Amino acid sequence: MKKYNGYELNYSISTMKRMMTKETADIKMLSPDDEAYKRLSEENKKVLKHLVAAARILNNVALKQDNPHNLAQKEALEKAAKKGDEEAFWALKIFNSLNGVAGLNGVNRRQITIFKGLKTPIGKNFYPEDLSIKEFHRILLNMFANNEIEEIKKILSARTMVIRHGKKLKAIDYTQYFKPEFDAMANELEVAAHYCTDSLFKEFLEWQAQALIQNNLDMDMLADKHWAMMQDTPLEFTISRENYDDELTPTVLENKELAKLIEKHNIEVIAKDMLGARVGIVNKKGTELLLKFKDTMPKLSSLMPFADKYEQSISQNKEAKQTMVDVDLICLTGDYAQCRGGIVTAQNLPNNDKIAVKTGGGRRNVYHRQVRQCHDEKLTQKMLKAFLHPDFHKYFNRETDHIFVIGHENGHSLGPSSEYQNSPGICKSIIEENKADTVSLSFMPEYVKRGIITEQQLKEIYTTWAFRLLLRAKPIFPTETYRIIGLIEFNTMLRHKAIFFDKDKLMHLDFKKFAPAAYEMLTKVIDIQLSRSPEKARKYIEENTAWTDLNEYIAATQKKLGLKKYKNIISYF
Ligand SMILES: [Zn+2]
Repeated sequence: MKKYNGYELNYSISTMKRMMTKETADIKMLSPDDEAYKRLSEENKKVLKHLVAAARILNNVALKQDNPHNLAQKEALEKAAKKGDEEAFWALKIFNSLNGVAGLNGVNRRQITIFKGLKTPIGKNFYPEDLSIKEFHRILLNMFANNEIEEIKKILSARTMVIRHGKKLKAIDYTQYFKPEFDAMANELEVAAHYCTDSLFKEFLEWQAQALIQNNLDMDMLADKHWAMMQDTPLEFTISRENYDDELTPTVLENKELAKLIEKHNIEVIAKDMLGARVGIVNKKGTELLLKFKDTMPKLSSLMPFADKYEQSISQNKEAKQTMVDVDLICLTGDYAQCRGGIVTAQNLPNNDKIAVKTGGGRRNVYHRQVRQCHDEKLTQKMLKAFLHPDFHKYFNRETDHIFVIGHENGHSLGPSSEYQNSPGICKSIIEENKADTVSLSFMPEYVKRGIITEQQLKEIYTTWAFRLLLRAKPIFPTETYRIIGLIEFNTMLRHKAIFFDKDKLMHLDFKKFAPAAYEMLTKVIDIQLSRSPEKARKYIEENTAWTDLNEYIAATQKKLGLKKYKNIISYF
């Protein structure tokens, strides 16, 4: 048996070939032949080149954060593939799709492990590979007993890699752990800033370079604040710091003894940031549409459930500190390129746990044109035929999915602050994402009132969105955030008869029931966040995630339709 660094491949050539051809959807980034690129000034073309270089370096950082074996295994596959090893060639394709040695596929969410015995732990590589939840909690309890509060704070912070240190754990700041990569990235950003003709973008790049070099949260804050202000810059560069991958850190709040100590010492528990980089060109026309939605946000914040019980980050009196741009993507690396079940169509950063936001900075919402524009028309037709009553086919319109997403992203900027958002422990992402979805659905009629969308579009949005609820497999708790939400929303919509299935198992919709059903969910999740109770969150999820024969039928039927399980990002730069 062939081995790569001592590890055998888990799949045969024919399986890997099938996975990476028939079962894979291509996502094409912008190419140098596209007008959007050709129109750029010579300076901006130079800027882009260096931003892409920085993004590529960051990919190695994310590989290290994700799994201790990623880099070595990737290198081994690359070497072998170059020499004509066909198995390595296909395995490398899978590796690049997952951007790692393991991950979930996009349909039945099976764990794909490229090498036998090489799984990715729940704490990724943020924590020692062999650290169990139990041991992690025990070590922390011991450290509390020794009054090592400062070190515990670092361990439970978003930007440290945690290693063993005798019988204890020790946290190393990202700027130290990833110093060689961060220094090289900072150099690229400095050069990019040198060529940059847009003053705000230039300033942002300079602060971002500093944030990579210095172990100083203020630099991140300044970089984030400048980044969030950019509304009219021609280019897009983001270092994304999102913390949905680390499932180990949030477990400490599930441990009652630890949770008490954490509260007593006022320690903020934040899952680790997985880093990603995005480079692109801002699309003016798409951006104009987004700005129309922005204007409604202060009004929406006043319509939120329990709006008087928490401070609004956006309100009638304060201007919404939210920029938003539609972007033609040049490249996605790191976290963005870990296509483990999906790829993000939009993202609103910084998240609430970041100092920039806590100290009054704004957010920037970036929409990914190349991602949303990639879909399979044939498959769509098959899906419609299989699941939607013909009377409603005229309302299915993929383009309007974009509008739902705009509502969802804006939804993250409404509701209680991060402290509340983090309080449901391991359920926090489910609750927060459910909130964003239900904000979007609940307030769609407001957009109609204001003439931003039409009645017809409202029906299209709801119909197209309802397809998101047709799950491909029973979700796994708590990791499959979006699927669990899908199931909660499916069951709630059914209960309200906003959707129902006839005897041929075809879906019908009652559009006027959508917003009230969504608002009921929104009320429940805001109540959960305000109550800061992980138990309440769990109960809500349990009560609304029944998996029935109907779900089984929907999943099985989709399987027959042959859905694409993997993504392949094609970059031209
Ligand atoms: Zn979201």
